[in-house]
Amino acid sequence: MKAGRFVVDTHVHAQRHAVQFQSTDEEEKYSRLGELMHTAVPADEADDDADVIVYDNSDRLLYDMDVYDVDMCMLLPAFGMNNEINRQIIEKHPDKFVACGYPVQTKKKALRGEEDWTVEAAVAELDEVLSWNGFVGIGEFLPHDPNLNERMTWKERKKQLRPFFDLAAEHDMPIRWHPGAASGYQGGGLREQDKLPDFRDPYNAADILAEYPDVSLVFEHGGIQGHWKYNVERACMVAAQYDNVYLEVGLWWKDILRRPMNDPNIGPEQLLWGTDWGASAVANGHDSENELDFPSMRWEQYQDRGIPAHVADYWGTSLRELDKLAREDNIPQDELNLVLGGNFCDLYDIEPPHTRLFPDYIDRN
Ligand SMILES: [Zn+2]
Repeated sequence: MKAGRFVVDTHVHAQRHAVQFQSTDEEEKYSRLGELMHTAVPADEADDDADVIVYDNSDRLLYDMDVYDVDMCMLLPAFGMNNEINRQIIEKHPDKFVACGYPVQTKKKALRGEEDWTVEAAVAELDEVLSWNGFVGIGEFLPHDPNLNERMTWKERKKQLRPFFDLAAEHDMPIRWHPGAASGYQGGGLREQDKLPDFRDPYNAADILAEYPDVSLVFEHGGIQGHWKYNVERACMVAAQYDNVYLEVGLWWKDILRRPMNDPNIGPEQLLWGTDWGASAVANGHDSENELDFPSMRWEQYQDRGIPAHVADYWGTSLRELDKLAREDNIPQDELNLVLGGNFCDLYDIEPPHTRLFPDYIDRN
């Protein structure tokens, strides 16, 4: 059975990285893989010297969409992925894909030492990308200086973020906020959550949202990183406070899903099914839900396992967690349909195949 009437994954990476390390420098380069991925060169522009290339992986995505009956996906750039490749994928399948834009070239120029990262340059690049067909929001991540190497305060960061919220308001598009950072296949060093307050604590969103009542916000992964739930609770607090704040639930396991589904101040109206299809985390099951507070299922980068060469099956695992909760708690399909696609259509102004597919009531008071 199909999971819902109109199924959309709001967090998908249709591009994939590949390394071209020489055997002589392989070990050193693998230890810097996370950093090298950010300056990946598109496959059709790359020569043999490029350490990491990035290519269109949409054939596998389309295969999975067919396997799991997923109707649409929202494409996000991250690491060395770019907006251009996503634009080409949308042009080939305008009915299946939309995308979020990110100031990718400003970031890559800064990392290559060609030009300092500035808010102005990032805003200008993003403004242009958001005018492309099929680009409907800002993300993945709130833009930031990739060369930052110290802890930033929320006061400084809020000042830096306002122009991006202004841009979201101008384009009438939702902005995305990524709490927490992956543990990483390369340990050590400062992670985004060590440097940036938006990664450290999603609750910071509450005061900037008060300044921008018309900007809707999506918490990427709903705050989850591995089994670390702290940010989920903080993101839920913001969602309970603001009706235009949404939580992505695709990496959540059953018990976490239950929390906002049963909160009258959040509920299914503020949840979006977004996984991380195409990303590098893999799932790990656990037979006891409470031992050491480990969940039954979580997504993580496991250093000891090595880097996955396969495309992890996000959808099979994620849809099963939703299904488990729906069965245990008798959740009506109408509510699931909102999470699986209805809220997405509403938030990103996407026309579903028909009107009246999702819950809507006539107010007679
Ligand atoms: Zn992602």
